[in-house]
Amino acid sequence: MPEYDLLVKDGNVVFPNLGVRKTDIGIKGRRIGAVADTIAPESARQVIDAGGKFVFPGAIDSHFHVGIYRPFKNDAQSESTSAASGGVTTILSYFRPGKNYLNKIGPYKEIFPELLDLSKGSYLTDYGYHLTMTTLEHVDEIEWLVREGGVSTFKYYMFYKLLNLAGSSPDGMNYLMIDTPVDLGFLYKYMKEIRRVSDIFREHGKISLSIHCENPEIIRATSEEVRERPSDNPLKDYSTARPPWQEELAINEVGVMAGYTGCPVNLLHLSSQRAVDAGKDVSLRYRHVDFLLEGTLHHLGLSTEMGLDRLAKVNPPIRDREDVEYLWQSVLDGTIQTIVSDHACITEDIKKGDLWTSLPGFGGTSLMFPILITEGYHKRGLPLQRIAELTSANPAIHHSLFPKKGAIMVGSDADLAIVDINQEKEVTLDNLFTAQDFSPEEGMKLKGWAETTILKGKVIFHKGEILGKPGDGEFVKRPVKLHYAV
Ligand SMILES: [Zn+2]
Repeated sequence: MPEYDLLVKDGNVVFPNLGVRKTDIGIKGRRIGAVADTIAPESARQVIDAGGKFVFPGAIDSHFHVGIYRPFKNDAQSESTSAASGGVTTILSYFRPGKNYLNKIGPYKEIFPELLDLSKGSYLTDYGYHLTMTTLEHVDEIEWLVREGGVSTFKYYMFYKLLNLAGSSPDGMNYLMIDTPVDLGFLYKYMKEIRRVSDIFREHGKISLSIHCENPEIIRATSEEVRERPSDNPLKDYSTARPPWQEELAINEVGVMAGYTGCPVNLLHLSSQRAVDAGKDVSLRYRHVDFLLEGTLHHLGLSTEMGLDRLAKVNPPIRDREDVEYLWQSVLDGTIQTIVSDHACITEDIKKGDLWTSLPGFGGTSLMFPILITEGYHKRGLPLQRIAELTSANPAIHHSLFPKKGAIMVGSDADLAIVDINQEKEVTLDNLFTAQDFSPEEGMKLKGWAETTILKGKVIFHKGEILGKPGDGEFVKRPVKLHYAV
């Protein structure tokens, strides 16, 4: 009997925090069994030749929206396929009760098992959830969700302050289907509870609150100004309507509140210099608070000067080239610690309406390596080791998946992405493997595509072919140190 089930041979292995080294990886069952200079091919049942390629730890796309605009099971299947084709092996998706998603409200003790039921057998990649609490009853369920549910991360979206008040959202829709405001007073109680629960589980990993920092009251006023005098550049207008300084304001509000409550915070999708600087400021001002600064592929890869239309509408908006360059500097200097896709699959048909009424967001998960390798490594000198940290080790640590995920280490899950950093391909809908029928990146020529994706020892994508099937991906309970022997 061969000692290993799978051997990844002769690859340049990209170890987070260590560097690149030509190494063989022997896989036993679902886990990494050996990492060594050479492992004999005869010792494995199957050998993958990774010569000339770079072997990254499987990417963890820690900001995703499965089922937001399309039926949940279909979306989980098609979009985890897209992720798998891009070297992503774990998805952490946002979920909230209310409109979109499952279109219902209720306690998590009822909704969460339903969500897990729908998820089971639907994903090609491993997955977990960040949950939004929209009532104080939900907030009381946080400890149970960590201890029993396997959820270590929660969400608050500052825009809900207005969205849930009848008549105050653009179309008067009560998205959250609730009748008490989720304002900063609610956030205060939410943060206090997360702090309390995070103290209980301190030894097991981080319990944190992800926050979408934009200020709806300001946006209401600044949007009116822009709508009165539109230009011929829709994305530029959208950026002016939700200006960077209102992100800065929102991040400061959150920073002060985190400072007082001690709640660990993930500052989501920072899009501009003002947002990043505000994130840096509050991190320095409240040193006792654990702040995570997140960047997205689309804020790094797109800008208002590219002639894109309203299909590239997203919140916070795509910004000007100067902001994009500042974001890259912040990735290079380590200020931005995780890179995510904020993938939300939507079709042109669903994204109907004009710039102001159409739904925000789009997908991009499979471009994780191509954008970071083309725009980061090739154009700006971002080391490959840092790409492994931004896409895998850091999200694993901050979202309490480490060391089950995010490491190329004996005993860790055998999740790997084998990437060709030099072969250039054009972005087409075909090579994204998504159900989305457009892509703002379509036509771009990028290097750094995943050639092979391995999930827990199983090859789920190889040379343009999807080999995984729904159900290969499993729910990962977090913090992993609480729920698994790791
Ligand atoms: Zn999002």
